[in-house]
Amino acid sequence: MLATPLSYQKQGVLTGVGLNDEVVSNLRKQLGNSVACENLASEHRLNDQVEQGTLRADAILLGCAVPKPVSVAQKVHSFDKTIPVLILSEPDRCDELRQSIMFAPLLGSVVSPWSTEHLDQVGVEVRSAVERHHQRRNYLDSISSVQPSISKLSLTQPELGHYLGQLLDQAPIGVVSTNALGEILNINRRASTILGVREKEAPGLQLSEFFSKKDRPRLANQLMRSAVGQHFGMKPEVLQSQQSGSRVRYLETTVSRIVYRAGKRGYMVILQDVTAREIAELKRQHVEGYMRSLSSALEQAADSVMITDANRVLEFVNPAFEKLTGYTKEEAIGKKTYFLRSGTQDSAFYGELWETIRNGDVFRGVFVNRKKDGTVYHEEKTITPIRNNDGEITHFISTGHDITQRLESEAIARQRQEESAHAARLSTLGEMTSGIAHELSQPLCAITTYAQTCKRIINSDAVELDKLAYGLDQVVKQAQLAGNIFERLRTFSRKGGEPKRLINILEVVDEAVSLMESELNRKKVSVEVVKEVDQALTTADPVQIEQVLLNLMRNGVDAMESGEVSARRLTLTVKVTKQGIKVSVKDTGKGCDDETIDRLFEPFFTTKTSGLGIGLGISESIIHAHDGRLFLDQNTPQGATFSFVLPEQQEQAGDRTMEQENGR
Ligand code: ADP
Repeated sequence: MLATPLSYQKQGVLTGVGLNDEVVSNLRKQLGNSVACENLASEHRLNDQVEQGTLRADAILLGCAVPKPVSVAQKVHSFDKTIPVLILSEPDRCDELRQSIMFAPLLGSVVSPWSTEHLDQVGVEVRSAVERHHQRRNYLDSISSVQPSISKLSLTQPELGHYLGQLLDQAPIGVVSTNALGEILNINRRASTILGVREKEAPGLQLSEFFSKKDRPRLANQLMRSAVGQHFGMKPEVLQSQQSGSRVRYLETTVSRIVYRAGKRGYMVILQDVTAREIAELKRQHVEGYMRSLSSALEQAADSVMITDANRVLEFVNPAFEKLTGYTKEEAIGKKTYFLRSGTQDSAFYGELWETIRNGDVFRGVFVNRKKDGTVYHEEKTITPIRNNDGEITHFISTGHDITQRLESEAIARQRQEESAHAARLSTLGEMTSGIAHELSQPLCAITTYAQTCKRIINSDAVELDKLAYGLDQVVKQAQLAGNIFERLRTFSRKGGEPKRLINILEVVDEAVSLMESELNRKKVSVEVVKEVDQALTTADPVQIEQVLLNLMRNGVDAMESGEVSARRLTLTVKVTKQGIKVSVKDTGKGCDDETIDRLFEPFFTTKTSGLGIGLGISESIIHAHDGRLFLDQNTPQGATFSFVLPEQQEQAGDRTMEQENGR
């Protein structure tokens, strides 16, 4: 359907495809009479015109309903890369379309989406595109149409040829005439500027000398095709000029054959300096190539990749994302990222995330998200803000990988470690039974004695109430003492240990020594605790640290068993070093031999007849789980020193909160 009769007297032709009546009438109003506007019912009509070479459009406007508009633009550009193509699009699809255009091969630089939101301004854009292209077409058409006349005129009316020569001098395009061998006969003023040669010096020079060596065969080919071709106005080519200095220039050349006076044949070459346009195009191609390789890297990445705009709306997801979440590209793009949330992370987490990236910093963290099938997964992510040339954040790119399995196996390993630590604690308790029994027997004995005394006081004639009260006080005190011993044993033998909290290592050392006290007495081992600091704070599970200390002390006691009684001495030292809090247990035993040193932490390695060989291994894993390390510090035939180092923590107001959080 023709919206207005086509008139090539107008400033140009806009060919619409699949535009609805409302858009056409709106457009006609905006364009006025200057631009002819035709509307083709479908892209097939346009294809026919392209294939038959009858397309006269100066610009093309594709309607929203045209399927695969980018392919249509590619088809048009296979015919003529200079025709501007605007693609009408719903506002929310513009970015996606822009991306497809960027990655589509064979497209010139004049294809762009136009949002239906701005239909009222499309006329201005269309008119300027049409006018530019129309002028270009006119210029090429007129060149090819005047060429035969020029050649005839110069034969019949030499003075007119002279005028025309003068006219050409004013033309904004370069015109060079050559003989059949490509030697310059004449150049106009503009050509002299373009080629960088004086008008007078040009005749006799080979035109090809002005072009780069690699492009000379292309010029020769153009001349040859023009010599044998049927038509004037062959398609223009863009050739690189012979480099002057570091400056590369691109010249658009259009060749026509002409016949001079006396029937001599030659060529007329039209030159236009298109350096700016070509460089822009090369840059665009470079960026396109870069973007394409970037895009394929993202497509193939094993990590899931998401790119959102500044409002968190997804613009790109890669196949790894689709595989991980179960959402397809089509389902995800255009949505805000919220749909992935599982609801298990609080607003403080997301608040911190947005605060970080909005400030232009990189955020790293573990997200607990939900897949399409409802499964919850843990993803370790890095989110990086992307800025434009003005420094504004326009996009965020997030890369991540699923760590659910890793977390699960870590949890299992932690549980195993807790279980074996528990088993080891029970075994330690077993080994301490006789000592504990001895320790308990003391308050029990005292209770019996005080109770019997009280009974005697009651049975006596003169009941002395003060003495009775004193006796009963002692009973209560001793019972509490026994109760404390039980409480300590209960805590120590509890299954999961205690949650990590801020503790003072000095107190744990005291506790461990008092648990061991009766055994140390029994084995005639003297103990000294050297505290080089007033407090040594760290975040830890006190029961587990106590377990490590008991293991080290028991090993020390065992190592000294065969030694001289008077020399049996354990020294526990607590100090703070650059590495953190250092706790050492030093004995006066026989030390470890080389083979033992290599296998100290190996599970079930023991040199003792009744040993289990798990004490040091478990102690090491406990200290490791507290971000510390355990090691054989000193070893001589006169004794060994085992030490562990734990991170020191300063007491701060926030510690309470952290303690509570850890306890959760
Ligand atoms: P166990 O005490 O049941 O043998 P451990 O893992 O605690 O298991 O210790 C492994 C081995 O390391 C001990 O059998 C012993 O040979 C050696 N060892 C540990 N502590 C000392 C020490 N203080 N002095 C000498 N050897 C030690």
